[in-house]
Formats: sequence, structure tokens, C-alpha cells
Amino acid sequence: MALPHVLIFPLPIQGPVNCMLKLAELFCLHQEIHVTFLNSEHIQQRLLKCTDVQIRFKKYPNFKFMTIPDGLPEDNPRTGDQVRNLVKGVEDVSSPLLTEMVTSGLLSPNSEKPVTCLLVDGIFSFAVDIAKEVGIPLLYFDTISPCALWTYLCVPKLIEAGEIPFKGNDLDALVNNVPGMEGVIRRRDLPSFCRAPDLNNPTIQRIIKEGKHIVQAQGLIFNTFEGLEGPILSQFRTLCPKIYSVGPLHIHLKKSLSSKCSVPKTSTSNSIWKEDMSCMDWLDEQPNKSVLFVSIGSVAAMSKAQLLEIWYGLVNSKTRFLWVQRPGSVIGLEENNDIPIELSKSTKERGCIVSWAPQEEVLAHPSIGGFLTHCGWNSTLESIVEGVPMICWPYFVDQQVNSRYVGEVWKLGLDMKDVCDRAIVEKMVREMMEVRKIEFLERGREMRNLAIESVNEGGSSYKDLDRLVEDIRLMRI
Ligand code: UDP
Repeated sequence: MALPHVLIFPLPIQGPVNCMLKLAELFCLHQEIHVTFLNSEHIQQRLLKCTDVQIRFKKYPNFKFMTIPDGLPEDNPRTGDQVRNLVKGVEDVSSPLLTEMVTSGLLSPNSEKPVTCLLVDGIFSFAVDIAKEVGIPLLYFDTISPCALWTYLCVPKLIEAGEIPFKGNDLDALVNNVPGMEGVIRRRDLPSFCRAPDLNNPTIQRIIKEGKHIVQAQGLIFNTFEGLEGPILSQFRTLCPKIYSVGPLHIHLKKSLSSKCSVPKTSTSNSIWKEDMSCMDWLDEQPNKSVLFVSIGSVAAMSKAQLLEIWYGLVNSKTRFLWVQRPGSVIGLEENNDIPIELSKSTKERGCIVSWAPQEEVLAHPSIGGFLTHCGWNSTLESIVEGVPMICWPYFVDQQVNSRYVGEVWKLGLDMKDVCDRAIVEKMVREMMEVRKIEFLERGREMRNLAIESVNEGGSSYKDLDRLVEDIRLMRI
């Protein structure tokens, strides 16, 4: 009988690719499972250019990369608003190719190594039909936060109760129809698409569809841990009995690598931008817990006016900062010589700017004392794992919910959503890095311990990964 063979297909952007590759590597460490990782051609090229991923995965004989077009021209951006086109491209172009691959092609039931389980991003509704057609189990991996995904699934309920579209302009009104979040979530904390004035908005329609397909999978995988999102995971269990919360994946993987390999400090970077390591030398020269790390991830963008507000806020706070200014992340900024001279001068004194950083390593550096983040789920988890408090400036999708949870539920930072004003930035930076520094760092330590416990032997994520691997092993066609 053929070995279990899982086909992993992420949404081709940095965050999902990063954590799905980490899950793939964890499967490889468990052995006895074949793993095929299906990347878009665009992502694969960039991964090969920027990381040692090819060498790293060579040591796993049961692992294989395959590629597929994502439907967009090579020079088309895949960030900001373009992510919507990317999802459409995958549906129109990649999905028929994937169907062909698993029905009659290279990975079909008649092939040498047939796929026995599809493990795909939760956004891909088309996978339900493919899995049914071939007769193989489907697992969805939703790489956004479960707390945000839960609000997505409650969108039909919110519509039925007349809570969305919003009536009136009061974004601070509490939302009543998301079970488990009563008294916590305000309108402004719902995913950004809930602000659309009418229900014909394509994103809302997609989200309603997502809620229907996601519960048809045999199981749902999340990059989270019980100690962080236990109550929300319980809500999911009412819809889908097989929930696997195996995160935080990056430390789960590091932990497994150090127990199974002789070299404990292996790089696990899956960056699609070249990391500028010079910032690590700069961090080495800064005092303990003195630096604010600033990054808005791989997709979010800001206007030039917002860039300047944040920049003045940082400089006026007199805090040291390390800022990732990703190429293309500032709309309308032609050249950095547009920047007022006083900002450049103060930055030379107290700051460091790079185009892409080794973020996991940066957050683990002793000189980091805070993180001004867009609250992408990977960044949020990476910060929690290092006990680094956050100032949250969410951009879209799950980030509005994540930032509310960081501030209000986990008490690990300040939520700056919907504001971009230099005086507020300065005030929040001072509050986090000076006034409430000890309180936040103490809370950070508690959260970090919970995260580490979950991936230690016997911890909740450790056990869920074992259960997931066992269930995949039992899947046969
Ligand atoms: N990242 C990085 N270097 C940077 C900025 C980001 O390695 O300079 C990584 C970060 O560690 C995280 C990912 O990019 O794993 C961003 O994912 P996230 O879910 O936070 O946000 P997204 O980019 O999907 O909006």
C-alpha cells in the first residue's frame, strides 16, 4: 500500500507560504509521510533566490516542491489591493491545473505516489469539489487567526441581525452577534470588509461562501495554541469536530529541529525578500529593551502622508527604532530624498532602516522592547513568542480583530487602529517603551511561557501535531 502523501497548497503570499512550509517541515521530521509542496512559480523563484530552502529540504527524501502558475503576469505586483486579483488568478488558472494534477496527472490515484490528503489554504473554496471528485480527504489550514476567522464565519449572523452593513457612523458601538466576543468587539474591530456600505461587496460575498465551504473539510488546522485562543477554538469545535491547533509553528519547528537534529540553530527562514542582516549588528550596539521594531509585513501599504506621521511620531518620541521599509510599501513615494532633512538626521542618530529584516531573529534580540506592527497573524505570533509588546496599526482582513485581541484580551499592547497622527504615535511609543514598560514586559513573559509550554512535549500544540500526523497516516485512498 502506498505511503500517505499530503499535497500542501498555500495562498501564494509570504505569510501563508511561510507557515505552511514550516508545517511541511514538521511533517518531514515525523517521516512516513510524503509531502508535496505546491508553490506558485513566482513564489518558488523568489524563495530560491532569497533563502537556502532548497538545501534545507534536500535532507528530507519524502519531500518535493512542485510549481504552478498563479495566473498573474510576472511583473504584476502581488501586494496591497492586488491580493484580490491573485486569489482570482489562483481560482481561474491554478485550480484547473491542480484538478488535473490530482485526477489524471502526476499525483492522481493511478500514479506512483497518489495524493492521499489535500491540505490547502482555507480561502480556496474550490478544493472541496476537487477532494470530492478524487475521493480524498481535505484539510483546510487557515493561516489567519482563529479569532478573526470566527468573526468571518459569523458574518451571515451579523447580516441577519442587521448589524452589518453598519447603521450610522458610530464605529465604537459594540457588536452583539459574534458568540464568545460579546463586550469585546466593536464595529471598528470587525474585519475591514465589514465596513462596506452594501452587501454586494465582492469580499463580503466571498466570506459568506468561505463560511460554507470551510466546515466541509475533514479537519481545520490553525497556527495558534490553546493558551492563547482556547475559548475561540471551543467555538470552532461546535462546527467541525477535528480542530488541530499546532502553533506557534515557527517555535514548534525550531523545537523539533533541535531535538531531532544535531545542529540546534538551523535557519528556518522562508523569506521571499532578501534579508538585510546588517540590522543585527546595529541591534547588538543598542541597550537592552530599548528599540522599537517597525514593520507592516509583506502585503500592507501606506500613503506618503502616513509614512511621515509615523516617522515624526517615532523621532519625536526619542525612542530608538529599527524600521522595515519594504520596497513599494509607500504609495506615491518616489525617492527617499523626499524626506525632510530633520527626519533623516534624527534617524541617523537613533534609527536603522532596512528593506527587509530577519524578523524572527530581530524580535528575539535582547535590545528589542516593542513592535509597531500591522498585526498580520505571523507577526503577532512571532511577537507573542518573544514576549514583545505591540503597538498595533492594522491594515486589512484579520488584522483589525487581531489588534483588538492584542490590546483588550491579551493585554499585550496598544491598539492604534484607524489613527495615524504623529502626536498619537509619539504618545503610544512613550507609553509602551517608558511609562508602562515593566507592566507590558511582564505580561509578555507570561504569554511567552504559555506559547513555549504548548510546543513542549505533552503541550497542547505538541499533542495536536501528533494527532494530525496520525490522522494523515490513516488516510488512504
Ligand atoms: N517578515 C520578515 N521580514 C520583514 C518583515 C516581515 O521576515 O522584514 C516576515 C514575518 O516574520 C512574517 C511574515 O513576513 O512571518 C509576514 O506575515 P504576516 O502574517 O505578519 O503579515 P502579511 O505579510 O501576511 O501581511
